[in-house]
Amino acid sequence: MAIMMERVRFAYTDGVSVLEDFSLSLPESGVVCLFGPSGCGKSTLLRLLAGLEQPQSGRIRGLPPRTAAVFQENRLLPWLTALENVALPLEREYPRPQALSLAQEELANVGLADAADQRPGALSGGMQRRVAIARALAYPADLLLLDEPFSGLDEALWSGLARRIAVRNENRLTVLVTHIREEAETMNARILRLEGPPLRRREER
Ligand code: ADP
Ligand code: MG
Repeated sequence: MAIMMERVRFAYTDGVSVLEDFSLSLPESGVVCLFGPSGCGKSTLLRLLAGLEQPQSGRIRGLPPRTAAVFQENRLLPWLTALENVALPLEREYPRPQALSLAQEELANVGLADAADQRPGALSGGMQRRVAIARALAYPADLLLLDEPFSGLDEALWSGLARRIAVRNENRLTVLVTHIREEAETMNARILRLEGPPLRRREER
């Protein structure tokens, strides 16, 4: 089921209106890239798609029950190991031993098989990033939201990950926020150029 945003209005309680009368339909599968300047409302749009914020008017139809996200910040739990961080959401879907083995597999996919027992504080920024990516990829979601997921990773790392994410996720919708054109191209994304606030599609000149 495709996602439809219809005349959505959203403002933070203390702030400007980030979305006003914003409509957008998203395809059922493939990668859509939101491309636009800092502050235009991309992360807010993802928060609405994740169900973390509700529209103040208008509506969003077709949101799937399960969403996985890489947020702009890693949001790892510091008291859990890398493996436990990745496994935690999986434990809602699978028995714990299976959750742990899927998590281990996903850590290996991002090149962190040997870091499974480390806590986030003992990992570099780029490694923490990859744990956050592994956590999102491991979860069996119908919608994958990636908010500048490759920031802080060098080219060899992000390009390999981007290619694999694009191939593996052909059958579900991935929404990627990035400032970097090569990331969108590597993931074979449809690019949606945005400006704002209030958020709107940028007209091509
Ligand atoms: P982007 O991700 O495109 O950089 P954001 O969606 O983060 O943009 O922000 C859009 C606008 O909303 C900006 O003006 C920002 O300052 C404001 N904003 C973002 N988060 C909050 C918040 N939690 N409370 C109030 N204002 C916010
Ligand atoms: Mg943002």
